[in-house]
Amino acid sequence: MSILQMDQEYVAGTYKRFPVEIVSGKGSRLVDANGKSYVDMGSGIGVTAFGFGDEVWMAAVTDQLGKVQHTSNLYYTEPCAKLAKLLCEKTGMKKVFFSNSGAEANECAIKVARKYSAEKKGLDCYTIVTLVNSFHGRTLTTLAATGQEHFHQLFQPLTPGFVHVPANDIDALKKCVAEFNVAGILMEVVQGEGGVLPLTEEYLTAANAIAHEDDIPYMIDEVQTGNGRSGKLYSYMNYPIQPDIVSTAKGLGGGLPIGATLLGEKVQNVLGYGDHGSTFGGNPVSCAGAVSVVERLTDGFLFDVRKKSEYVFSTLTGVPGVESVTGLGLMIGVKTTAPASEVVKTCMDRGVLCLTAKDKVRLLPALSIPMEDLKYAVETLKKTAEELA
Ligand SMILES: *Cc1c(COP(=O)(O)O)cnc(C)c1O
Repeated sequence: MSILQMDQEYVAGTYKRFPVEIVSGKGSRLVDANGKSYVDMGSGIGVTAFGFGDEVWMAAVTDQLGKVQHTSNLYYTEPCAKLAKLLCEKTGMKKVFFSNSGAEANECAIKVARKYSAEKKGLDCYTIVTLVNSFHGRTLTTLAATGQEHFHQLFQPLTPGFVHVPANDIDALKKCVAEFNVAGILMEVVQGEGGVLPLTEEYLTAANAIAHEDDIPYMIDEVQTGNGRSGKLYSYMNYPIQPDIVSTAKGLGGGLPIGATLLGEKVQNVLGYGDHGSTFGGNPVSCAGAVSVVERLTDGFLFDVRKKSEYVFSTLTGVPGVESVTGLGLMIGVKTTAPASEVVKTCMDRGVLCLTAKDKVRLLPALSIPMEDLKYAVETLKKTAEELA
């Protein structure tokens, strides 16, 4: 039985996989079971921030593995404490709760917002406002937060108390806050799964002001946009806004599961003993890897991320077969004239792995992708988009 057949027989059929078995990776290159090499423009959906088999990350992880791989949260460990300190120092946030995924990081954010508002404004203040076309995760609560009906079908009833308003519509947000007893506002700075759609600066600053005026915790979902992806440490740092809660995951761990919910001044002491927890949360191996990632997201490194971003935007914008290029940093959506799935398939045949988001080709390369690999991938995409148009 081939690996492909074995997977199809025994793994739950939730993923429409490409018929490719990946066996190894180094830097921004992946190798399949036939020995074919690809330039990877997906980094495991924005996870392997420093590429595959990154030496610094591997040393941090294996060093910790040799000491202790897990302890439970009954005891202190160095990587967890160090990572929390590093994240707080780099963001100005005050405390961190660690979990294992983006959905869990959002669950924690929602719990904090609800408890803060329940204590301040009463138990009937529980409504969480999110945006149409958003994506916040797959648990029943984060699905309720996700403003895309097609994810909800046949899973009702979801967690109650969520309303969705159209993105970039300030009046709709104002009306919603006036109508409901709002406990929190949650949004992505760039809607990732929704099609790599950035919110406008005007909207973000208005939402920030609306939330702060009414003492509503303002939550930014940085699961995909965070950890250098946007060209800043966190994408909200591209704008003059100050969230109270930031959730993140994906790129933080550099390849191991981790989620983090960063709590600002206003909500820093909302969670007390027993209010929340996670068996694996703060795992020392994941945290050691994450420390090695966050330590290297320096101003100089992020400057290079923005340079690479400019290269991708300028190479693909306005060329035949490309209708638009959107996004921030190295989180880029390319609307091709040809269907995105066909472009991705042909790029794959040509040795370049891309993602899709809605009707777009989505690029989330390793932040450290070598310029020559990036050039090869972008030129291949450009040529393919034009030929298939
Ligand atoms: C991927 C993603 C999530 C969910 O993260 P998981 O680790 O799959 O639970 C939540 N929010 C955003 C913005 C994401 O991109």
